[in-house]
Amino acid sequence: MNCNLFKFSKEAMDTVEAIERELSPVFKAFEGIELYNQSKVLKAFQDNKVAAHYFNPSTGYGYGDIGRDNLDRVYAEAFEAEAAIVTPHIVSGTSAIYTVLSGLLRPGDVMLSISGRPYDTLADVIGIGNASSGVVPCSLAESGVIYRQIDLTSDNTFDEPEILKQVIELKPRIAYIQRSRGYAWRNSLLPEEMAPTISMIHRVSEETIIVVDNCYGEFVLMHEPTYYGADIIVGSLIKNAGGGIAPTGGYFAGKRKYVDRIANRLTAPGIGRETGSYASSYLPYYQGLFLAPHIVCQSLKTAALFAGISERLGYRVMPSKADVRSDIVQAIRFNTKEELIGFCRCIQAASPVDGHVIPEPWAMPGYESDVIMAAGTFIQGASIELTADAPIREPFTAYMQGALTYSHGRIAAMHVLSKLLK
Ligand SMILES: *Cc1c(COP(=O)(O)O)cnc(C)c1O
Repeated sequence: MNCNLFKFSKEAMDTVEAIERELSPVFKAFEGIELYNQSKVLKAFQDNKVAAHYFNPSTGYGYGDIGRDNLDRVYAEAFEAEAAIVTPHIVSGTSAIYTVLSGLLRPGDVMLSISGRPYDTLADVIGIGNASSGVVPCSLAESGVIYRQIDLTSDNTFDEPEILKQVIELKPRIAYIQRSRGYAWRNSLLPEEMAPTISMIHRVSEETIIVVDNCYGEFVLMHEPTYYGADIIVGSLIKNAGGGIAPTGGYFAGKRKYVDRIANRLTAPGIGRETGSYASSYLPYYQGLFLAPHIVCQSLKTAALFAGISERLGYRVMPSKADVRSDIVQAIRFNTKEELIGFCRCIQAASPVDGHVIPEPWAMPGYESDVIMAAGTFIQGASIELTADAPIREPFTAYMQGALTYSHGRIAAMHVLSKLLK
């Protein structure tokens, strides 16, 4: 059937088809995970008797908002956690992580990152950025938190001897893990592989709280880090967990005593989760969570396809097309800044919204280099939709992720190939 409305070259279409044939077992594996996660989410809806009255809006204080309370319970069950808070009152992933960290840390406490330097936007949150004007107001550093960091080993695993030593010595309040790659040339960490390190830390320091930045990781594998012993996971709702439908927000989930404590930070001490209304209804949050396992699967197929086409074009990629993934991000390394920008412009040009717009590198709040972002998305900046972004610094690496439908990812791949195979 000829559906080539975009007049892609025959070579581009043949290349995509050839790579898809090679990817068939990989796609099957993604579908198996989707089926498991869809079952888990469906069961969470049914066990919590989700019904139409949970979609009624609330206003003002939102006392007794059953839509809010039940959404929290559904999320907790889907993430195999004791408790969860899911809310449009968190503005982004960074805001969710800040809420968690500042809710758990007290002056003089140590926060120990055991997966190296955290995501760019957290530098100012922690107070390790290069802000020219001294300590960033309201950063963890300003409130007297001590930050320490242990890098991953050269084979992308936890440096267990060093972690053991520092945990015994420092008794950190938080041991922090970033699951996804961020803007680093490394693979995402598998929740399953976190388990031994988490239990080692808990063995020598029971009070140390394991916090996992779970951004881009939800529903990529069968279980979240909470299943493997993490005390708190935290993420954004305009990435995986919102299923492309949630309009904004963030979540955190895990042990009830910690979730309750962070709730006091989210609203106010003594008020916690008793308040918080949402006048436009939690319907898109329920619907987004229900769709999330499927949308994540579409994104994973798209990422694997892009790994395949980029390898075919001679670029280095991380991960490779058939690798096991723990996030939806595909890193592609280009030779020049121009190629990198050209790639991001191709993704923008293949978008349903703002497809006519040409993205430019720009200074973004929270990022240390200029960043180019191709985000022709329905929900502004939602990177569960097909997007690509890159800090403009060497080595020139684009991080692409998302796609609400695999067909869209496939069309974008042909778009890129038609341009770059020339
Ligand atoms: C996206 C992301 C964040 C921050 O989320 P924003 O919504 O962009 O603030 C933090 N950590 C990781 C690993 C991310 O991918």
